[in-house]
Amino acid sequence: MSALPASTGAALAPDARTVTVSVSPPYDVVVGPGLLASAAERVREARLAVVSDETVWGLHGRGLAAALEGAGRSVLTVTVPPGEGSKDLATYGRVVRALAAGGLGRDGGVLALGGGVVGDLAGFAAATYLRGVPCYQLPTTLLAMVDAAIGGKTAIDLPEGKNLVGAFWQPRTVLADVDTLATLPVRELRQGAAEVLKTGLIGDPGLVEATERLLLPAIAGAPSASPADPGALPVAELVDVVARSAAVKARVVAEDPHESGVRAHLNLGHTLAHALEAASGLALSHGDAVLHGLVFAAVLGRDRGLADVVERVAGLVKRLGPDPLPTFDLASLAPFLARDKKAVAGRMRFVLLEEVGRPVVVDDVTADELASAWRTLEELMR
Ligand code: NAD
Repeated sequence: MSALPASTGAALAPDARTVTVSVSPPYDVVVGPGLLASAAERVREARLAVVSDETVWGLHGRGLAAALEGAGRSVLTVTVPPGEGSKDLATYGRVVRALAAGGLGRDGGVLALGGGVVGDLAGFAAATYLRGVPCYQLPTTLLAMVDAAIGGKTAIDLPEGKNLVGAFWQPRTVLADVDTLATLPVRELRQGAAEVLKTGLIGDPGLVEATERLLLPAIAGAPSASPADPGALPVAELVDVVARSAAVKARVVAEDPHESGVRAHLNLGHTLAHALEAASGLALSHGDAVLHGLVFAAVLGRDRGLADVVERVAGLVKRLGPDPLPTFDLASLAPFLARDKKAVAGRMRFVLLEEVGRPVVVDDVTADELASAWRTLEELMR
C-alpha cells in the first residue's frame, strides 16, 4: 500500500486509504468517505461522461456532477435502467451512441458510477469507444468496491450467456466512496459480504473475522430491502474492510492481469455458484450462490483432508441469511457444473483451501466426492 495516490498526487483525506494495483500502468484504488464530492481532484480530463443507473444517479449522481461542474469540468450524463438487463447489446449501443452524440473525444473520460452492472457496461463502452478512452470506476455497491471495479474486466451479456463480449480495460483510478453504502439495501450488502468472505478465505484471514464482527450484525435479521442501520457500519471500519479486500484483489490481479493463473483463486465457491445461478435461471443471486458455494468448497476440502473450516463458514453463511439453496438434485446440476467456463479440457476445476489464506486449484474431484459434498451441503443449508 502507498500513502498517496500514484495517478494524480491529490491529497488524501485523513480517513482515506489507497491501494495501488501494480499493473502497467499502475493505478490506485482510493477508499474513503466523501470521495465523490472531491472526485475532480483525482480525475484529469476536462470533458467527462458519467454513466450510471437510474437508482444510483438519483441518489449520488447529481451531487457528483455538480461537484465536477463546480470544478470547471463539462459533464455529459448517460443513465440506464438498474439491473443485469442493462448489460445487453442494445444498452451498450445506447451508451456509446450517447458518448458520440455528446461529442466526447479522445481527451475525454468515462466515469462509471454504480454497481458491477454499470462498471462492466461503462467499462466496456470506455474500452471500445474511439478504440479506448480513459475510464474511472466509481463503485457504489460493496461487491463492486471489493471486486468488480478492480482488475479491468469489463463485459456485457448476450442472450447466449453472461459476460460473453468484453475486454480487459484497466481503470485510471478507482474511487470507492464508502458514504454511498449508506443507501445500499441490505440484500445488496449481503452480495458484497459474500465476496469479502471469499476474499478473506483466499487471502486475508482478518477479513473473515471482519465479516463476522462488522458485516454480519449489519445484515443478519435486517429488512433486506432497506439500507443497514446507519450506526451498524462505522466509516473507519468500513474503509478498513474495503481497503483490505481491495488489497487482496489488487495483489492477485497484479500477479495475473489476464486471468491465466492465480486469478483463478478468486473463484473460490464460484464453480458451484455459477451452476446454481444458471440452473435456477438466475433466480438465485450471484452473491447468495457464492455463499452456498463457499460452504460447498469448505466441505469438499475438508473431506479431502484439507482445511476444516466447515463449521465456521457454514455458521457464518447461515447467519448472513442467503436465499435458500434451491431444491435441485445433483444430477440436474451436473451439466451446468461441466459447462463452467473455468473448466479445462472438460475437467471441472474447484478452488479449495489448504488453509485459510492458502487456496489451491484441483481438477480431479470425483463424482462420489461431489455427491457426498452436495448431500452435506443440503443437510447444512436447508
Ligand atoms: P448492480 O450493479 O446491479 O447493483 C445492485 C443494485 O443496487 C442495483 O439495483 C443498483 O441500482 C443498486 N445500487 C447500487 N449502488 C447503490 C447504492 N449506493 N445505494 C442504493 N442502491 C444502489 O449489482 P452488483 O452486485 O454491484 O454487480 C453485479 C454485476 O457485477 C454482475 O453483472 C457481474 O457480472 C459483475 N461483476 C463483474 C466483475 C468484474 O471483475 N468485472 C466481478 C464481479 C461481478
